[in-house]
Amino acid sequence: MVLSCRGLRRDFGGFTAVNDVDLDVRHGEVHALIGPNGAGKTTVFNLLTKFLQPTSGRIELLGQDITRTEPAKVARMGLVRSFQISATFPHLTVLENVRVALQRPGGLAVQFWKPVSSLDRLNERAMELLETVGLEGARDRLAADLSYGRKRVLELATTLALEPKVLLLDEPMAGMGGEDIGTVAAIIRRAAERHAVLMVEHNLKVVADLCERVTVLQRGEILAAGDYATVSADPRVRTAYMGT
Ligand code: ADP
Repeated sequence: MVLSCRGLRRDFGGFTAVNDVDLDVRHGEVHALIGPNGAGKTTVFNLLTKFLQPTSGRIELLGQDITRTEPAKVARMGLVRSFQISATFPHLTVLENVRVALQRPGGLAVQFWKPVSSLDRLNERAMELLETVGLEGARDRLAADLSYGRKRVLELATTLALEPKVLLLDEPMAGMGGEDIGTVAAIIRRAAERHAVLMVEHNLKVVADLCERVTVLQRGEILAAGDYATVSADPRVRTAYMGT
């Protein structure tokens, strides 16, 4: 298990936003967290990344208890949420954006730094990353000039520069058209082969096609969890979430 929590709870004053949540994210899987607005998905992400302290419960990352660990340390341990580091620089080129990401603390260039060939290695690794996400042909374009969908893809590339062990994505396909959705889905699938991905996603077709497992939240509690076929056939899920 790369990431798990048991009995996770968060109160805001007298209101319990997340209640007794157990979640397991396994190596190699894309795991969807779904549920209606206000179900507690964002709060769960904030708790897992330690932006928020849980009222009670326990969180483990790669077998280590991180319940009381600082957010920066959790990120260094490999739990990365896309927006934490995915800001791109509009007036830099696509290649420059990825090079900057690689040179951040924790970025791959820093890990592989070799004085003699450092610049070559940096460029090489940046191009590898761009090829991974299909942006190699746009390397010299300014980030500002990319389409919305391709900007999001560039953001994903800058996130992958940190080689996260667990990647948390908040609606990575939001606002995208069909072709971009396919591109991002392929990137996420490849990222999960090396790591694991937990994503909030409203598009159920994306969830059905991409995610090995699904956890459904409702009013802060787990309504159902399992593979998509099982979860989507659950009468409680159909009533609560799918409206059928
Ligand atoms: P989702 O991401 O599934 O839409 P959220 O996690 O954002 O749900 O919110 C879950 C519930 O917790 C909502 O009712 C929301 O109003 C409440 N909530 C979230 N953050 C706070 C906060 N900082 N203070 C008070 N209530 C909050």
